[in-house]
Amino acid sequence: RLWALSLVLRLLSQSAAPATGFIAQPAAPPRRIRSGTMTASAGLTTGRGEAAAPVASACAATANPFQCDDTISPMVKTVSPSKTLEVHALTQEMKAKGERVVSLCVGEPDFQPPPAVIEATAAAARQGVTKYTGVTGTVDLRKAICADLARRKNLTYSAGDIVVANGAKQAVYQAVLAVVRPGDEVIVPAPYWPSYPEMVRLAGGIPIVLETTVEEEFLLTAEKLRGALTDKTRMLIFCNPSNPTGAVHSKERCEELAAVLSEEGGKGSGCWVLADEIYERITYDTPHVAFATIPGMFERTMTVNGFSKSHAMTGYRLGYLAAPPIITKAVTTIQGQITSCASSISQAAGLAALAVSDEEMQASFDVMRKKRDFVLKRLSEMPGLVTAVPQGAFYVFPDVSAHFGKSAPDGTVIGGPTDLCLYLLRAHSVALVTGDGFGYSKCIRISYAASMEEIEEALAEFDKCLCSLDG
Ligand code: PMP
Repeated sequence: RLWALSLVLRLLSQSAAPATGFIAQPAAPPRRIRSGTMTASAGLTTGRGEAAAPVASACAATANPFQCDDTISPMVKTVSPSKTLEVHALTQEMKAKGERVVSLCVGEPDFQPPPAVIEATAAAARQGVTKYTGVTGTVDLRKAICADLARRKNLTYSAGDIVVANGAKQAVYQAVLAVVRPGDEVIVPAPYWPSYPEMVRLAGGIPIVLETTVEEEFLLTAEKLRGALTDKTRMLIFCNPSNPTGAVHSKERCEELAAVLSEEGGKGSGCWVLADEIYERITYDTPHVAFATIPGMFERTMTVNGFSKSHAMTGYRLGYLAAPPIITKAVTTIQGQITSCASSISQAAGLAALAVSDEEMQASFDVMRKKRDFVLKRLSEMPGLVTAVPQGAFYVFPDVSAHFGKSAPDGTVIGGPTDLCLYLLRAHSVALVTGDGFGYSKCIRISYAASMEEIEEALAEFDKCLCSLDG
């Protein structure tokens, strides 16, 4: 069973950075940009910067189950399965077999939605709020979203600028589909939320991965952004606060990035900004500013937000896009043909969520801060970790590369973050997510949106694990 588990995890890690290529991407060569330098690879590529290899070897080396199956559209073959969801699924599988696993993998709070949300959910079902709504969502909810964005984020949208979707994930994907044309380049700062590059590929675009480092606290600099812009740049995906790093770009940093996009004669003039701000309510010492409030950015920013993280409503599948009318119109057309509307009951619950007081909301964010501080303290006591202090979300993303090349007591050589996660799961029954899934292979992601007991136990085992490595 362990052998099978090992194989699955290895395949997952290979799918994050496959050694061989899918030959289905647009002709323009993708690039991966590291620490301010730019490398361009020529010829057929994977969209991940590697040269393509014969399809037969791709079949053997990839975890994409459709790679060699002609039944399935070539489009699907360009996409990797979601690794964060799969690690979670695997952990669930082990638990189902009676094995005890402590998981700090999943990106959802361990608390329940506010009581008023639960009440509104039940009331909506009882009162017959069970029919389709308009494609963009109920007017009441969209008005409440506008009022919330105006009050807390200083953003002025009207109800017609909002499209309520089945989760922020759908909102992000539809925004990408609305503007990205085949061959367009989309800048995706790394470490990234795993769905971004895959969504860009699904739209026929080319993800341009722009690396930030732990030393830079995973913040994008103006110089790096300028270096990545080309005549083909169509979009910058800007996740602030970031999953997986928890980095929060300050107002000043956002202004510097905006200045690059607005430079006269620069290459940023045709670049949309997809500002994924789903974690904006969970911030610590660096205040979050909405990118659309930066001068000159409102007209070219698509703001994504939702209820999954702030209100612990992941299962409600409720998120939204706020954007200029041309974008909301396009997105409404797309959504109208694929999912119609978000759940009517979830929308009623969302309305109640927006009425929850700031004080009540703050209580759960204060708990998050305590957990973050505890995790940082424990990590600082462990050998060989470099950790940037996350200023938002509920993730820590330590650099574990000092342990690469070491051996575990059972002889396992830790070649990279996936090996470490695999060994930790096998020998210490703790599940963390490999940085490979986030386009950054020096780190692992720890989600502290878990109970304090789980966090304490998992970190004690992680400490033991690191101390046991030799070399
Ligand atoms: N954006 C980011 C950065 C996320 O981490 C997530 C959830 N993991 C989403 C979007 C999607 O959120 P939702 O549950 O609302 O679809």
